[in-house]
Amino acid sequence: MSDPADLHPFDCVVVGGGLQGALVALAWLERRPTARVALVERERGAPLERTWSFHGEDLPAAARGFVEPLIEHRWSGYEVRFENLRRTLSSEYLGFTSRHASAVLQQRFAARADCALFVGRRAIRIEAQRVVLDDGRTLGARLVVDATGGAPRTARNGACGYQKFLGLELELARDHALQRPILMDACVDQAQGYRFFYALPFGPRRVLLEDTRFADTPELERDELRAEVLRYAEELGLAVSGIAREEHGVLPMPWSEHRFETAGPPLRAGYRGGWFHPATGYSFPLAVRLALLSTEVEPEQLFQGPLRQLARALEAPARHARALNRLLFRWFEPRDRAHVFERFYRLPEPTILRFYALRATFLDRARVLGGRPPRGFSLRARWRASERARGAAREVAHA
Ligand SMILES: Cc1cc2nc3c(=O)[nH]c(=O)nc-3n(C[C@H](O)[C@H](O)[C@H](O)COP(=O)(O)OP(=O)(O)OC[C@H]3O[C@@H](n4cnc5c(N)ncnc54)[C@H](O)[C@@H]3O)c2cc1C
Repeated sequence: MSDPADLHPFDCVVVGGGLQGALVALAWLERRPTARVALVERERGAPLERTWSFHGEDLPAAARGFVEPLIEHRWSGYEVRFENLRRTLSSEYLGFTSRHASAVLQQRFAARADCALFVGRRAIRIEAQRVVLDDGRTLGARLVVDATGGAPRTARNGACGYQKFLGLELELARDHALQRPILMDACVDQAQGYRFFYALPFGPRRVLLEDTRFADTPELERDELRAEVLRYAEELGLAVSGIAREEHGVLPMPWSEHRFETAGPPLRAGYRGGWFHPATGYSFPLAVRLALLSTEVEPEQLFQGPLRQLARALEAPARHARALNRLLFRWFEPRDRAHVFERFYRLPEPTILRFYALRATFLDRARVLGGRPPRGFSLRARWRASERARGAAREVAHA
């Protein structure tokens, strides 16, 4: 059999045109301008309805060149609102939609005759150095990146809770009064667990509003969340005239088993490889670092050490984030969980930013988990959480 790389000698083939796949492909197109790159995405047009946002701190200087074309929204600061705390943070917050990312990819690939974008094509086999498409074609490459999304089984099994949310992009009949994003407005009913609204003003008459819940179970009550988003819009005084689009998600919050996949090739990146923040479910900060790394070393060397080094650098902050998940879901009754976040947002801004970027230092980690525990920390909650876990295990055993 001939070497598959002879059939289509690409340098890098990326499977999946979501967040991670788009970042890897754009990184290669920009930072390795003579490399031949292919991207395979099974959906036609915009693959997903998602808004991806991140803090300026999450973006390494070397990645600005390939991330910049993606950025649609940029805000110089944001707010958080809790029962006893209102705070405006001054750091930059940025975002883009999956639709825009697809358009950027189309444009970039169209400008490169030696590269290839396969949309509406599913990869049926993803191997160390080749990808087989559903039309029978085989793409060979020095580096194959599996960025097909979906958290690995280990992360789902190790989840002690879930972050679930539904967002509506609202069209307004008159200008809103929001001056900046509201990352968390937790001044809402907390009886079922930590809950907050998230508001991103995209334009004077366009706002994305999300209802987010940190819950013990993954079920998403979409109708209820939709109604709650519209109710909150009213509370903010927004004159809603239409709904441009909807997005939703259920992200696992692991406290065990979660790890960053370093075995390969192929490179298992993004959610597929567990490369996400255990406490926020966000993957942009890691996806961008992984994209950068994939262009900095030769594919043949990536698995020899650099990938493991990155995973090692992330492990202490990730372990800390998993401990925070455990604390939240095991040591607090649902109604008291907001106190953990209120306390977190009293910390110095650089600590908060490093926590989100999964770059928390030893001192940051001590600040987040140390000192007097937040209101609501209780042995009774711990006991009840164990009871719930035992009940769930019994149900599984009976099923
Ligand atoms: C609604 C929503 C909003 C989110 N917002 C943020 C945010 O603001 N910031 C943040 O950091 N994180 C956010 N997240 C969390 C996380 O970053 C996203 O889930 C992110 O999309 C994960 O990126 P990914 O590339 O690993 O997977 P995905 O973005 O899910 O991409 C996987 C892609 O692979 C394609 N695919 C799958 N199988 C195949 C195949 N066999 N052949 C070809 N293509 C295939 C899929 O169609 C898909 O396009 C959000 C999640 C959701 C659900």
